[in-house]
Amino acid sequence: MSTSTREQSSVVANRTSRNGSGTVSASSSRESRQVYRSNAPRTFPCPDCSIRGRRVRKRILEVIDLELHNRVKIVGTVGVYKSKCDCCKYFTSEIREASKGTEYSNRVRDEVVRLVTEENLTYELVRERMNEDFLITISIGTIHNWLKERGASPARPASGRRSSGSSRSRQASRNGQSSRQVQGGRRRGAKRSQRAAS
Ligand SMILES: [Zn+2]
Repeated sequence: MSTSTREQSSVVANRTSRNGSGTVSASSSRESRQVYRSNAPRTFPCPDCSIRGRRVRKRILEVIDLELHNRVKIVGTVGVYKSKCDCCKYFTSEIREASKGTEYSNRVRDEVVRLVTEENLTYELVRERMNEDFLITISIGTIHNWLKERGASPARPASGRRSSGSSRSRQASRNGQSSRQVQGGRRRGAKRSQRAAS
């Protein structure tokens, strides 16, 4: 319960700051949608040998997913199974959107990896973009781990800021957004709406 309250308040804070910087005007419609998924039949095949195990209990997952311009919360029910084979003692079924059963969906991971490897964004810009576009907050460490998992490497180093004024912008970002970041957001926003219009 406390988690969802914290999430809500961070969304509100985010929305306020966006209005404050004037980069987003139609943010009031951005409510995070919630969808339900279930994959917990009474028996389920072992992921290694396919011999079906018997469900011993259900588990609820909360997964952060994305759709166009928004964050989606998936509440998934999966089963925990006692195996009848020797591969493992227990295993868990999964929902399609989150094959790893973790906090973020496959789509979120894919988008982050794409932003780094195809759009050549630094980890910090990826964080910013995910927050702007989908209200999803991801730590730099998590981004790094996802890249490593995929065996993908960033097109430029994670700390690859242009050298001029980097310490200045770091100081500015400690106090809030640096002006360059805000401009970057506007430029990107303009590009996006052009794309949407065409
Ligand atoms: Zn097995």
